[in-house]
Amino acid sequence: MKDPKKSTRQSNRDDLLQSPKGMRDLIGEDFHLMQGFFEKAAEVALYYGFQPIETPILEKAELFNRGSGESSDVITKEMYTLKTKGGDHLALRPEGTPPVMRAYFEHGMQAWPQPVMFYSFGPVFRHDNPQKGRYRQFYQFNLEVLGTKKSIADAMIIMLVYTILKESGLKDINLQVNSIGDSECRNTYRRELTTYYKKHLKDICPDCRERLKTNPLRLLDCKNPLCQPIKDSAPESVASLCPACKTHFKELLEYLESMNIPYEINSNLVRGLDYYTRTVFEIVTTKKAGDLTDQSPALALAGGGRYDGLAKILSGKKEVSAVGAGIGVDRVLMQPDYAKLTPRIIKKPKVFFIQLSQDAKQKSFEVIEALRKVKIPLAQSLSKDSLSIQLALAEKLGVPFVIILGQKEALENPGIIRNMDNRSQETVKIDKLADYLKKNV
Ligand code: AMP
Repeated sequence: MKDPKKSTRQSNRDDLLQSPKGMRDLIGEDFHLMQGFFEKAAEVALYYGFQPIETPILEKAELFNRGSGESSDVITKEMYTLKTKGGDHLALRPEGTPPVMRAYFEHGMQAWPQPVMFYSFGPVFRHDNPQKGRYRQFYQFNLEVLGTKKSIADAMIIMLVYTILKESGLKDINLQVNSIGDSECRNTYRRELTTYYKKHLKDICPDCRERLKTNPLRLLDCKNPLCQPIKDSAPESVASLCPACKTHFKELLEYLESMNIPYEINSNLVRGLDYYTRTVFEIVTTKKAGDLTDQSPALALAGGGRYDGLAKILSGKKEVSAVGAGIGVDRVLMQPDYAKLTPRIIKKPKVFFIQLSQDAKQKSFEVIEALRKVKIPLAQSLSKDSLSIQLALAEKLGVPFVIILGQKEALENPGIIRNMDNRSQETVKIDKLADYLKKNV
């Protein structure tokens, strides 16, 4: 009979060898594609004068509680929090914007020439329900412009995100924009929306009845089919804009038109976070990747907006106008059109190095170092001993040349270079290998 205690112990062991739910390892191509995307995105940002920033993965939980808004899902449901041994209450960052604003104040960036423009890249954590395209640890590439209220900054952020996605090969993408106004027009709009929804209380889902009390703007995020007709006829935020917010939005649309960036005004787009003001936008894919089972009609690849209210919420007194965006890198890489950008540092090997004896192994590093110094990418399997196994590996990699170092070669100093296309072989002294390959590779 099976010992039940033993089998529980084994299943605990098996579980120990799995990554946490919704989190995954990035290995081989998965890692390279992500790194390749990051290099492309960083390059675009650098050409526009953005500078890199890396903030800690852990921040004080209060930064997000205050900054992102207590009624948003990201905070109330999805944040990973912990109490340190010293008693600090920290959180794994659920988004990138409040940390950058915190850094802006901490380093006295108000005194720097404005605006201050940052790009960043890294993991973000949300305790969400994992499914294809929705992880608990996922990666964002973020852009932030702090210290300007000008609409051209909103246009630049949208343009850059759009350009990065296009240059990553994505074709079927759709830019959706909206303006939710400043705090005053938003209050007017919130009232209008509440009055409208109150008239339809019996036609909406229980979640929406709750949202009506806690955060009416989120009524427009509801995906329940029951609420769609009510949502479709709801008042639009652009109708409540004050003249200044209207001008800001009009200017943004003019910039987009002059840059030939197609857009759609989506009056249901309000985004989940409380700190947004005026511009909000999302870039969605119009084509679903593979077996994607996301219930939302279009999958968001990137999103952002203006957050003029965040600085005051965090600092209590100082106002800093700002606008930013986050690209969901995992989702970009899942798209069938993704250009498979590879990192600059990864080079396809041109040569396979085969060694056939202990003496040859001793010379291995000398050979590898000589080739590295002239930047010839090389593959090897130093732990192997057999010629046929190493040749098979070289065949598999499709390298044009193989270096063979046997017992005799190691002692007498020449190496054999085999041309894998025509199978011809030449003898070349070890210290001349690099020169030979440089000329012939
Ligand atoms: P947000 O900060 O919610 O505006 O997210 C910005 C982008 O990150 C979204 O447009 C998505 O592409 C991506 N994203 C958000 N949540 C997740 C998740 N749980 N898993 C993978 N990507 C996500």
